[in-house]
Amino acid sequence: KAKEKGGNTFEMYHPEMNMRSLYRLNMEIELRKAVEREQFMVYYQPLVELSTGKIFGMESLVRWKHPEWGMVSPGEFIPLAEETGLILQLGNWVLQQACNQNAKWIAMGLPPLCVSVNISVKQFMQSGFVQLIEDTLRLSGLPSNLLCLEITESVAMNNVSYIQDMLDKLRQIGVQISIDDFGTGYSSLSYLKRFRVHTLKIDQSFIRDVTTDEDNAAIVTALIAMSQQLKIKSLAEGVETLEQLQFLRDRGCNEIQGYIFSTPLPADQFETMIAENKVLYPH
Ligand code: C2E
Ligand code: MG
Ligand code: MG
Ligand code: MG
Repeated sequence: KAKEKGGNTFEMYHPEMNMRSLYRLNMEIELRKAVEREQFMVYYQPLVELSTGKIFGMESLVRWKHPEWGMVSPGEFIPLAEETGLILQLGNWVLQQACNQNAKWIAMGLPPLCVSVNISVKQFMQSGFVQLIEDTLRLSGLPSNLLCLEITESVAMNNVSYIQDMLDKLRQIGVQISIDDFGTGYSSLSYLKRFRVHTLKIDQSFIRDVTTDEDNAAIVTALIAMSQQLKIKSLAEGVETLEQLQFLRDRGCNEIQGYIFSTPLPADQFETMIAENKVLYPH
């Protein structure tokens, strides 16, 4: 009977499917090895206060240092790390690195900056997450107000009163909370005030053509105005041009992140930049 349907009955032997699942399996094996061997680097990108041009913080961004493939960007492996649960170990490693590095820079006498760490939903929802944050802060010696956790709107898809309770606890500890990639998720706007986050990061997809696309201009304008009303700071991601910067400044956006100031840098290069304690000018 199967033969009557022709050769394509055996879908699991479809060469393209096979290649894809083999590729994925290989990636997973490689990623598991890398997590065990800690073959990653944390890069840092400056966060700049728009009114002064001063660096007030940095976002930690992980890179996979593969022995043969070279540097792999997070877009290529974070989704797999999330699917496989490896994000728990990897995310914890990044958190430790970022806190230790920031504490070290402060001990060196560099101007105190706030380090932002991306926290995936799985990580945030794992039991004992608040304790993990407290332990990491204590072990690193980093003051809690110099750590910011970046969570996405998808966190709000979970039990809202549980999330609110966690955010309250984190606020009591003194860490900052940002909503990352704002505008790309599904959260209700009412959560914004209820969760009392510190910063709203406007996703770079709205910023990219903000000076040429009327719809994006309207969205960004509205998001900045809404943040002001809610007394939440606004940060624009992915700012690359002077025109974008001008647009955001005219509308009272508080903070900027983007290649216009700097790409993410390895720790030693970032250190050199902040040691000069300069005001960053767009370039
Ligand atoms: P994100 O948290 O929204 O980080 C900002 C991304 O925008 C970074 O990409 C950064 O390099 C990029 N970017 C910054 N300025 C500009 C600009 O002016 N133009 C353009 N085109 N891009 C800019 P990256 O480093 O590739 O990271 C991508 C995403 O991977 C991050 O987006 C974040 O969602 C995730 N990610 C990175 N590190 C971690 C981590 O340690 N843990 C978790 N859970 N996710 C991470
Ligand atoms: Mg982020
Ligand atoms: Mg972002
Ligand atoms: Mg983003």
